[in-house]
Amino acid sequence: MFIGHIAVALGAKKAAPKVSLGTLVLAAQFVDLLWPLLLLLGLEHVRIEPGNTAFTPLDFYDYPISHSLLTGIGWGLAFALVFFIVRRSVANALILSACVVSHWVLDFVSHRPDLPIVPGLGMKVGLGLWNSVPATIIVEGLLFAGGVYLYVRSTHAKDKTGTYAFWSLIVFLFLVWVANMIGGAPPSVEAIAWAGQAMWLLVIWAYWADRHRAAGNMTGVPQ
Ligand SMILES: [Zn+2]
Repeated sequence: MFIGHIAVALGAKKAAPKVSLGTLVLAAQFVDLLWPLLLLLGLEHVRIEPGNTAFTPLDFYDYPISHSLLTGIGWGLAFALVFFIVRRSVANALILSACVVSHWVLDFVSHRPDLPIVPGLGMKVGLGLWNSVPATIIVEGLLFAGGVYLYVRSTHAKDKTGTYAFWSLIVFLFLVWVANMIGGAPPSVEAIAWAGQAMWLLVIWAYWADRHRAAGNMTGVPQ
């Protein structure tokens, strides 16, 4: 899942209007930002296997540090702790930890049973939404639309950049999602890992767009 995770970040803005969309994206995509780094370090592994599920040509056979339920909760707590130390808001720290853990939950829905519960134990789970391309498009597309709706309802542009930076980000995410769908298998694991690093640009883009928007609807009244 890709834009489904971003949808969580967008929707969470309603619950945490003072937290930048950049921080929310960082939280919701945290373990997927960690994953390419762990691939490059040789600590986690993925195999290119066209047809692994209908939706992805990747076999996620070894990613217990980034994608087990236990470590997912641990990353959520760590994220919340760091945020609390910097920003001193318990409520927002909790929302961000929920965003981090939501990643595992959404991956649990989409992946085939390849997500470990606890690193080192054999038990792996996944509901396999990715076995159906139409179902994946409907579920992930609706999630994304819902997230965009909530974000737009919870903020307004302070200037032109607030409109263009935000909507160009949304269009870009949508196009990357479509390109991933119709593009073939990636050439190598290294290519996957480096493409994954590019996700940091989305975080920066989200900070930039959010800085040009303010909480509240068009009249400036927070909802
Ligand atoms: Zn993931």
